[in-house]
Amino acid sequence: GRVLVSGASGFIAKHIVAGLLGAGHTVRGTVRNAEKARQLRQTMQDHAVPVNRLETVEADLLQDEGWAQAAKDCRYVMHTASPFPQSQPNDREALVPAAVGGTLRVVEAAKAAGVERIVLTSSVASVFYGHERKRATAYGEADFSNTQSPHISAYAISKTRAEQAAWASVQGSTTQLTTINPSLVFGPVLDSVTGTSAKLVAMLMNGRLPALPNMRFGMVDVRDVAEAHIRAMGNKNAAGRRFIVSSQTLPLQALAPIIVAQYPELKKRMPRLTIPDWTIRMAALFSSKAAMLADEVASDRILDTQPAESILGLHFRSAQEGVLALADSLIRYGLVE
Ligand code: NDP
Repeated sequence: GRVLVSGASGFIAKHIVAGLLGAGHTVRGTVRNAEKARQLRQTMQDHAVPVNRLETVEADLLQDEGWAQAAKDCRYVMHTASPFPQSQPNDREALVPAAVGGTLRVVEAAKAAGVERIVLTSSVASVFYGHERKRATAYGEADFSNTQSPHISAYAISKTRAEQAAWASVQGSTTQLTTINPSLVFGPVLDSVTGTSAKLVAMLMNGRLPALPNMRFGMVDVRDVAEAHIRAMGNKNAAGRRFIVSSQTLPLQALAPIIVAQYPELKKRMPRLTIPDWTIRMAALFSSKAAMLADEVASDRILDTQPAESILGLHFRSAQEGVLALADSLIRYGLVE
């Protein structure tokens, strides 16, 4: 059956497209313009992925045009497209029209086309944000971020509301839904067009981050995230489930020694300072952007990845492997000066 992949030009999506084409599926990828389509095809060819079963169509999350046509004759839909800006907009609702509106356009088109299952790229941003900072038990499938909290970012609001809109929309429909909820995604980029999470490591390697906040993030390799999507597509036990995909949780400060061990010449570019928690908490009194950050400072969340391991059979690559594979690929594609 044909698989529709929305946002096929994205960092994670390119790994999904490569995996699907490699397994012999017919893939229809949506992109925002013809240049992205050309680039996607080129990247697949550069990685020796067959492109004879790759179709591309243009569609934008903010517009109705193209989605019904895109979903036609597809058995599965992977909905990966969603705005993921490098810095948070001031307006808490700024990303909602594309994230929620776009998700509803994709899900409605999938239902109308009789699609069997939608696999939605959600996030841990839909799981644990806007809740009290410390909790001894793991966050899992039943948890949704609190979009009413003053401490939740515009991005987390957009991801949470988009996922909730998707669940509401498939209620009572024959089209099934599965969500993949990754933590911070590292691992190799397939070309020189990176996403926001890969840019974080590129900035670090280019000496653009003089100081880091005291934050811990779950990390996961993009190859495992792509594999999760592909396994979720055809696994009957995955219908109606939300899968958190994450390897270790590490402080941002742990990235530097991992990179320096492999690339000692980059040592002088690594951040020497940790932004003290109190400066962020002070700034939070005056700036809504800082308030969104403040909730994450010094937080440490435990994530329940057991369903992804037992139902999808995933064995996560270590955070270190993901960071190093990303660093290697950034150098390979000339993204480190
Ligand atoms: P990218 O920025 O590479 O991918 C985002 C994709 O969404 C791109 O294909 C982009 O298109 C597309 N997109 C954005 N806005 C629109 C729009 N208005 N219309 C159509 N397409 C649009 O980042 P990732 O690959 O990391 O992100 C993919 C998904 O994974 C997102 O849903 C993100 O929220 C989620 N995610 C990512 C994590 C991470 O750490 N990377 C962690 C958890 C979840 P274009 O190529 O034209 O810009």
